[in-house]
Amino acid sequence: MPGMPESKINLLGLSRQQMEAFLLTKGEKPFRAIQLLKWIHQFGVTDFDEMTNISKSLRAQLKECAEVRPPRVKERLDASDGCYKWIVEVESGSSVETVFIPEAGRGTLCISSQAGCSLDCSFCATGKQGFNSDLTTAEIIGQLWVANRELDTFGTKKPRQVTNVVMMGMGEPLLNFDNVINSISLMMEDNCYGLSKRRVTISTSGVVPALDRLKDYTDASLAISLHAPNDELRSQIVPINKKYPISELLRSTNTYLDSLPDSRVATIEYILINGVNDHRQHARELAELLRTTPCKINLIPFNPFEGSDYNRSSNSAISNFRKILQEAGYTVTIRTTRGDDIGAACGQLVGLVDDNTRRSARYRALREQSNPEQRLKVQ
Ligand code: SAH
Ligand code: SF4
Repeated sequence: MPGMPESKINLLGLSRQQMEAFLLTKGEKPFRAIQLLKWIHQFGVTDFDEMTNISKSLRAQLKECAEVRPPRVKERLDASDGCYKWIVEVESGSSVETVFIPEAGRGTLCISSQAGCSLDCSFCATGKQGFNSDLTTAEIIGQLWVANRELDTFGTKKPRQVTNVVMMGMGEPLLNFDNVINSISLMMEDNCYGLSKRRVTISTSGVVPALDRLKDYTDASLAISLHAPNDELRSQIVPINKKYPISELLRSTNTYLDSLPDSRVATIEYILINGVNDHRQHARELAELLRTTPCKINLIPFNPFEGSDYNRSSNSAISNFRKILQEAGYTVTIRTTRGDDIGAACGQLVGLVDDNTRRSARYRALREQSNPEQRLKVQ
């Protein structure tokens, strides 16, 4: 608009190719892109004056038209088990959540890709809030940037604390395809975070057309949120199944796995909800269904949240379910619940999503009814 100051380009959100193209417009050679990426992502530097191997004239030009602007952290919560949760503000005015989960020998960062989610899975707090916005590349990679700064690993010789990234926070990554692809390219880029393709995982509830395209853009690891062994049940709890049924989802998963140069398998995620999908018969059906999909199975005991009617499966149902799958030859893990004293467990992430649909209004009312303190905290 005439008279409006032009906003500066946020270099935090540029992939290597985009950074090279941007520098070309300034008459600079592509190798400058690597220098900038290192300053921003390896050393956590946001001030161009600290980028000492960049010429003074380029620094002056950059200050005119560009900036390095990480998302603002509204709050950090520290759990008693060593997990952290950051509440990060995004440009749409909503906030999203990022969780760090330390384990022996590794540290996993669970990153959000959208504020809210449009897919409305019946067991997911994020889904109950409705959709607000796609995160930009800067907001997605910014979550890793922020974690590295707060865990104090930038520019030090300390071992890397975030060794793994999972796109299992708020939102459906494949519905924000370009920004997710750009972000994971930065995660894997040697001059940035240098994470191996095995240690970056995209989790999807099954947006099949996007999954079909994925192999042309990345070779990250894949997790499929299956949660039910047949279409009838899956359509009830993961509504996108009505559009893209299980047979198409597994066909697309196999195609992706076939495209990988190594023998990686998919992780099949399966929430165990008491009396809904946790019968022995479901386990047998699941074992049969996955016969031709190279995979390991991750069972996730349902994590309760305000406003949800479901309960976690009993310990005996969980172990029976696992046993049936193991006896059928599958590698099965049970996800331990971490960070639940700060609302950081799987499916509990809510941020502060501003969505005005009836679905989110209904959910907000339920949350407020069941937990008035929560209302005070988030407003
Ligand atoms: N939209 C993507 C990624 C975000 S959800 C997807 O659905 O895969 C990440 C994981 O958290 C999924 O496996 C999801 O099924 C799980 N999850 C959601 N709600 C949960 C809950 N209440 N308890 C336990 N896990 C949950
Ligand atoms: Fe969205 Fe994933 Fe939650 Fe389903 S489980 S509502 S796809 S975030």
